[in-house]
Amino acid sequence: MPDGTAIVFDSRMLAHDPGRGHPERPERLRVLLDHLDRARDLVPLGARLATEEEIALVHAPGHIERAAASAGQSRVVFDPDTATSAGSYEAARLAAGSLLTVCDAVLAGEVRNGFALVRPPGHHAEYDRAMGFCLFNNVALAAAWLRARGLRRVAIVDWDLHHGNGTQHLFEDDPDVLYVSAHQFPCYPGTGAVEEVGCGAGAGRTLNLPFPPGFGDEEYVRAFDEVVLPVCRAFAPDFVLVSAGFDCDARDPLGQMRVSPAGFARMADACRALAEETAGGRIAAVLEGGYDLSAIVEGVDEVLAALRGEARTLPLATGDARRADRVLARVRAAHAPYWAL
Ligand SMILES: [Zn+2]
Repeated sequence: MPDGTAIVFDSRMLAHDPGRGHPERPERLRVLLDHLDRARDLVPLGARLATEEEIALVHAPGHIERAAASAGQSRVVFDPDTATSAGSYEAARLAAGSLLTVCDAVLAGEVRNGFALVRPPGHHAEYDRAMGFCLFNNVALAAAWLRARGLRRVAIVDWDLHHGNGTQHLFEDDPDVLYVSAHQFPCYPGTGAVEEVGCGAGAGRTLNLPFPPGFGDEEYVRAFDEVVLPVCRAFAPDFVLVSAGFDCDARDPLGQMRVSPAGFARMADACRALAEETAGGRIAAVLEGGYDLSAIVEGVDEVLAALRGEARTLPLATGDARRADRVLARVRAAHAPYWAL
């Protein structure tokens, strides 16, 4: 197995300005750049722009045209939460291209795995529109791109506070892309109920874990152990993608979840172990949300440590595993036709 964990970032992604006082602000990435500048044992890779042909793997031509037309404009409003500045289109193409750069390096055997540190985030972006701070769906594009490169099955694990409606909708009838999301519920964007399990040939390939506010490390880790990992193992992906959001951290100003860095370490380590089991170690993470700067820095640190295979034994700091009984019972019932859980 090749060595090394890649990181990709590009300061042009700081130029995306969604407006004064917006939580998805350039500082989110700037603190990571400053912090990781001192990191030694990572392989820095240069970002590239995703091409319009690549973006068209998951987005409608009209949406790509509208995003492209925002380039150079001081402000274009796409939805109540999503506006662009002059540099946003370039930043969004770099965000999508950064994850493709990681996937490419992993496929080529140049690195073992990697993390694309990007903004704007992606998982709310739908086929034909920007939504919820997101212009292009970075993780969905990577999944479609990997499939186009000949990989048979791709699993996307999304632990961002919010449900990735865009990712789910893009693959809900696709039997070869498994989408797993743990998210606060009810919460923005309103999708992600247990009963949303995929449709048609993709039935059972969407796994939603809608968590009530207040869940912490213990509940998340129990859900991973008892449901997420068994389903992922049975699916046996050839590549694992992680939508790594840090807005489920207890410090986040937008969410009410209570995950700590120890929880992120355990979830990331579970994903790495899964990739080693079924995917030849191939795994790439991409930054989604997370609006407390310390939580982002510490969470990214833990994910990078897990990707490097540094087993950390941080004790779980928050939560109560028994509180997950009810939601896990409902998930098992909804997925009984598809998986032995
Ligand atoms: Zn989020």
